[in-house]
Amino acid sequence: MLITHDTRCALDTVVDLVNTAPEDDATPDGLADVAALEAFVRDHKVSEVGVLTEFDLAAVRTIRGRFAAVFAAPDARSAATMINELIAAAGTTPRLTDHDGYDWHVHYFAPGASVADHLAADCGMALAFFVVAGEQERLRRCEAPDCRHAFVDLSRNRSRRYCDSRTCGNRLHVAAYRARRKEAAG
Ligand SMILES: [Zn+2]
Ligand SMILES: [Zn+2]
Repeated sequence: MLITHDTRCALDTVVDLVNTAPEDDATPDGLADVAALEAFVRDHKVSEVGVLTEFDLAAVRTIRGRFAAVFAAPDARSAATMINELIAAAGTTPRLTDHDGYDWHVHYFAPGASVADHLAADCGMALAFFVVAGEQERLRRCEAPDCRHAFVDLSRNRSRRYCDSRTCGNRLHVAAYRARRKEAAG
């Protein structure tokens, strides 16, 4: 499937957003305060964002949970239902733009939208394209047992299982190797 630059950016943004959520009680929230949200918005070049507040932080954390559910969806129909709800709640105004020197692309968030609505609309549409393309199963969560990071599998044969093969894949291989050795040693 063809993935345009802006879709790729929205995908990176939504994956990083989902992965700011703490994995367990011991890990800190990657969006702990408004300053963290400001840094996230800056790092991901989210355009047209005004002054952020506690209200924005709470709203972004809410949609973060809803996006996490999309990555855990068992099939296209349930993913579609969740994405529809996210986009409908955000309200959208599709329009062409070539801001900041980018090529023409479509923005979906309504002018003046809150940052949560902005992310829900544009990241929601990026995920919607995967459902349309019959590629919903590329939206995945890492299979390493102690890691539930979200990722988008852009490999040709959809074979990617881990968020990061260097860390999660390796860690799992090492664990399997040790288990086999232990078994062999009886
Ligand atoms: Zn843009
Ligand atoms: Zn992982």
